[in-house]
Amino acid sequence: MAMSPDTSIKNTPPPSLIAKVRVSVPISMPNTQNAKSEFDYVVGSTLKLERGCVVEVSFANRIIWGVVYECNYETEIEHSKLKPILSVSNASPINNATLEFLNQVSEWTMAPFGQILRMMLCVPNALKSDVPVMCYGLSSPAQFNVEQLSASRQKIIAWCQHNPPVPANILVSETGVSYSTVLAMVKAGQLKKIEASPRQNRDIKTTLSSLTSAIRSASTLNLSPEQIHAAQKINETENGFSVALLDGVTGSGKTEVYFELVKKQILQGRQCLILLPEIVLATSWVNRFKKWFGFMPNIWHSGISAGKKKRIWREINDGHPGVVVGARSALFLPFSNLGAIIVDEEHEAGYKQEEQVIYHARDMAILRAKHADCSIVLATATPSLESWINVRKGRYQHIILANRYGVATMPDIQTIDLRKFKPAFGKWISEPLLSDMQHRLKSDQQILLYLNRRGYAPLAVCSECGVKQSCHQCDSLLVTHRLSNQLRCHQCGIARPFQNRCQSCWQTNSIQLVGPGVERLAEEVYQLFPEASVTILSSDTLTNPAQMALTIKSIEEGEVDIIIGTQMVAKGHHFPKLTCVAVIDGDLGLSGGDLRASERTYQLLTQVAGRSGREKQTGTVFIQTAEPTHPVLQALKSQNRDAYFELEMEMRRSADMPPYKRLAAIIYSSLNELALADYVKTLASHKPQFEDVQIFGPASAPIYQIKGRYRVRFLINAPKQVNIQKIIKSWNASITMPSTIRRQIDIDPYNFM
Ligand code: ADP
Ligand code: ZN
Repeated sequence: MAMSPDTSIKNTPPPSLIAKVRVSVPISMPNTQNAKSEFDYVVGSTLKLERGCVVEVSFANRIIWGVVYECNYETEIEHSKLKPILSVSNASPINNATLEFLNQVSEWTMAPFGQILRMMLCVPNALKSDVPVMCYGLSSPAQFNVEQLSASRQKIIAWCQHNPPVPANILVSETGVSYSTVLAMVKAGQLKKIEASPRQNRDIKTTLSSLTSAIRSASTLNLSPEQIHAAQKINETENGFSVALLDGVTGSGKTEVYFELVKKQILQGRQCLILLPEIVLATSWVNRFKKWFGFMPNIWHSGISAGKKKRIWREINDGHPGVVVGARSALFLPFSNLGAIIVDEEHEAGYKQEEQVIYHARDMAILRAKHADCSIVLATATPSLESWINVRKGRYQHIILANRYGVATMPDIQTIDLRKFKPAFGKWISEPLLSDMQHRLKSDQQILLYLNRRGYAPLAVCSECGVKQSCHQCDSLLVTHRLSNQLRCHQCGIARPFQNRCQSCWQTNSIQLVGPGVERLAEEVYQLFPEASVTILSSDTLTNPAQMALTIKSIEEGEVDIIIGTQMVAKGHHFPKLTCVAVIDGDLGLSGGDLRASERTYQLLTQVAGRSGREKQTGTVFIQTAEPTHPVLQALKSQNRDAYFELEMEMRRSADMPPYKRLAAIIYSSLNELALADYVKTLASHKPQFEDVQIFGPASAPIYQIKGRYRVRFLINAPKQVNIQKIIKSWNASITMPSTIRRQIDIDPYNFM
């Protein structure tokens, strides 16, 4: 009810302004009414508030951050019970497009609003007021003769002439001159110390002019005619929301094409967001960026320093032009001036976040672009079927790069029939592959053996009792790792020392290791080619980005003869000497998998194959398989992707599956198996009935137990126009969930385990 200021009633205190504050605390849906995490607070008369202001409030005995969504005089709470706003952050108010985006993400994913808000307010020191810091600037230039100074001092003076005072670390990183030189210059009276708030360091104009001059002075690189044409098509799109699929074969230089769009936006003073599936793999990508733009992009991931996070968060919120490159989480930065979003390798499963808030970063990026009214480019060599159908329906612009950049041509792809060329027992390299490898090593070419299995052997079985060794807290087999001499669960990560003794019958020396992992394959390679230099690339052998960069460099420089790798090697890398890629187990992933098993295998194998022959020498790809006629392998071999897509689409359509229909999974889990069974039984008896909407389950999840929790799933299949969230919400709200049970809602699931 509205309470307008009314002076006619005596003795009524003047009404206070009430702020509706969304707090960054997850309040779970759909059992509670307040899904938006919105609460009323009194605004003190001295505070100036508007929509988007970040404020500090007290909530459940804690002081936390929240965002003002509205201010008015209405409240249903008794005034005396309302708490005040404690303080207002001096960060600029969050813009409307971002606020609406957060809203929609919460509605789509069904995650509590407070949890989504927390992803944006994840940089607390960007919200706090600034403590002044020591900055360095030019003292009066007339007091000394610049020409007589050393080159490094002149460099500093030249930089300071065009920039406001900055902290020493920034001065050092911008000029490349040492810290001791800066101090010496203070002593000599050439620089002076000034206490200043670091916020005032740069204004938007300065940022823009420094980016512009960097771009102007960057070395100009030439696009191929095909790239020029593609870049023109992308840049032609009107300002405003549009989606383009940049569909280019591996090695075609899609990156350079979308760089042109980014460049155009930066020169217009806008912000760009580039999403990459795995930011740790981005070293060579960043080098390419630097070459093209002359400045470094803002790299965003959980590992960057708090100071960097603060600077980037603030600049983005204030509307500074610039480029952010990051993994999924970068989507939740408070962009206020977005000109373009790029989703590189849009088909990558890594874009699906499976923990906490379950969302697909590509889909949320499209939503983000819609709210920011800007263009978005999805780049890939193997589009997801979701994007493919949108291209076919004319919703996305389709931009094609059919050829590799420069002289490189597409590799030749052959299958090796493992039924004809069966390797010896316990061996994995077939005769035709072996002889090709011998020949290549003689002529100094690199070989990549691809096997998407970490460790030494995927299965350890007792020869006495036949029991497969498994994790005690998950329904998952233990993988033997030789390098670390452990048995590991790839589900929960638990590891124990490898002992040759059965966990079930306690027989010793009875464990047999079955099947290959990359470590076992390496063992075979060492035996076959004792002279060769071999490197294993997997997440177990490369544990940090620095080590990764070193290894990649040594491969690029040709110091490695044979690379053995998991899917980690599939993406992005450009190894000039690599001419032969062999897929050791082409059948892995093709059968018995989920809805997208074929699609994913096709994408992965295309990416792996794409590492071969990226320079003058034509590459070869061998796929070892027991099923050479499988449509996925046939499509790869004949390089007829579109025909394969049509086939796969037809299968999806006839099975009533995405991208034609929408799926949603609800997973309930609990340590208490009985309580769980009871609850899902009640839910099942209250399944909503709608025409066209099917609800399957409850069914035990394929991995029934993870970390001790039992897991049961429901799967909903509905036409795309149906509001699947609304159905889930009303169904679940009708039956109170015991506190021992956890619920995870997964809209558009990729993981069915
Ligand atoms: P994509 O960007 O399509 O994934 P890749 O990274 O697979 O392309 O391969 C492109 C390779 O060709 C890279 O090494 C890139 O540096 C190079 N390249 C592409 N376009 C150009 C260009 N216009 N000028 C110089 N090098 C280019
Ligand atoms: Zn486990």
